[in-house]
Amino acid sequence: MATAVAQLPAVRPPPPPTSSGFDDLEDAEMDNLLSAIDEKKLEQAEMGEPTAYLAYYKYLLPWKQLYLWLNRTYTVPSTSRNFTHREFAFTLQNEAYLRYNSFGSPEDLKREVCRLNPARFEIGPVYSAKPKDRKTVQKTLFKPVSRELVFDIDMTDYDEIRTCCTGKGICKRCWAFISVAVKVLDEMIREDFGYKHLLWVYSGRRGIHCWISDEEACALNDDARRAIIGWVDIIKGSANTTKKVDVGGYVPNGPGNSNNGGNGRALHPSLRRALEGNDGQGPLKMAFVDVILRDQDCFKEKKQWETLLNLLPTSELDAITKLRAKWSTHPFRPSLDKWSDVTEAAAKSKKQGIWKTALEDVILQYTYPRVDTEVSKHLNHLLKSPFVIHPATGKVCVPLTVTQVDKFDPDRDCPSISQLLREMHVATQKNGIDLHKEKGQMSSMRAFWDQTSLKPFVETMDRHVKAIMQDLRQAKKEKDAKSFDF
Ligand SMILES: [Zn+2]
Repeated sequence: MATAVAQLPAVRPPPPPTSSGFDDLEDAEMDNLLSAIDEKKLEQAEMGEPTAYLAYYKYLLPWKQLYLWLNRTYTVPSTSRNFTHREFAFTLQNEAYLRYNSFGSPEDLKREVCRLNPARFEIGPVYSAKPKDRKTVQKTLFKPVSRELVFDIDMTDYDEIRTCCTGKGICKRCWAFISVAVKVLDEMIREDFGYKHLLWVYSGRRGIHCWISDEEACALNDDARRAIIGWVDIIKGSANTTKKVDVGGYVPNGPGNSNNGGNGRALHPSLRRALEGNDGQGPLKMAFVDVILRDQDCFKEKKQWETLLNLLPTSELDAITKLRAKWSTHPFRPSLDKWSDVTEAAAKSKKQGIWKTALEDVILQYTYPRVDTEVSKHLNHLLKSPFVIHPATGKVCVPLTVTQVDKFDPDRDCPSISQLLREMHVATQKNGIDLHKEKGQMSSMRAFWDQTSLKPFVETMDRHVKAIMQDLRQAKKEKDAKSFDF
């Protein structure tokens, strides 16, 4: 990230504050901006070209949706503390980092973003006072009071498993890890915690964020957030830790679990559901076969299959020795076949419970969501806003439904800033829209995303925002009705 930003073309220092921001831009600068939308110039433009960013903020970013999502009120337009007391942090093109900005309206936010033209911006919590006024309020009175509960899943945490890419690379194949993580985490959050308003947002490179906007989730304090992430996070240890899952071992003659055939381990229903689903083939088991065994071939090489052998029941030395001997003679035997060897060995053993427990742990270790826990623990964590551009890839951080995540190919399906500006250029030409004439309206929320491939993603955001508002309206109705009862 730091190097990517450092590679950006020369930057101007932020202009001094003016009262009306963008509308005061010099004509020359505006011409500069508009010519950035020229197709030929765009081809040559660096992805981080500041003029391209400015054009994107000005014409394409769906400010209204972003605002309504953060504002969380049942009426429009009434700007709530959720917006006015909200921290925004800007990373400028020269890497300067400006914290504790806050705005009275979405127009003000847009104007400031256009003035500063940051490489990206982040969203923080709602504070007890306006963040921009924090120096004027007593220190103890300035504290974070609410924010969306967030989760972060990053491909980095899958580097020791995935075989198709390394480091910053990501492809449709390793996206499958993200896809299964999203499926499992989404269901867990809804079923176990009862939250409804989950927004998944592609990070623009190799990860995904989840923002939960339910009122109860936003109100959680740090302790509650830590407890939740502790619940979700079952993959522990560094790259050198062989066994990373500890969700309770086999207990001889233990009570087991009704789904478990009573053979000695009471796995939490949430994990049981992720493993087994309704028909014995839950998302984790499916992903284990399709992604781990078949596609990624994760036990192909000696180091990889040695890890697998080390995860088998230590009391079953004979069986393990036989497997090792067989795989040493056929070292590149496909993972699918190696796993069949393992399940055969398990079937022959008299210690069914021990094997079942160990094999479930292997499946969990290779498929269960790996979350970056630090992101979720604190109310005042800042997280990159939806719809900003990832400076290293030029891709937009687009919201996705769980179904969209499943089909998403980060290489092919995520629009980039240059692509969007090109599409907008074509559309405005075709429809006879003169962007020069639009100049005077730029403090308005007019946007051209609906003329580009950003449209379906904004519509996803739209539906999400509508559902939140619908719920708030319902809650208000019920509250009003109750107050009539007295
Ligand atoms: Zn890959």
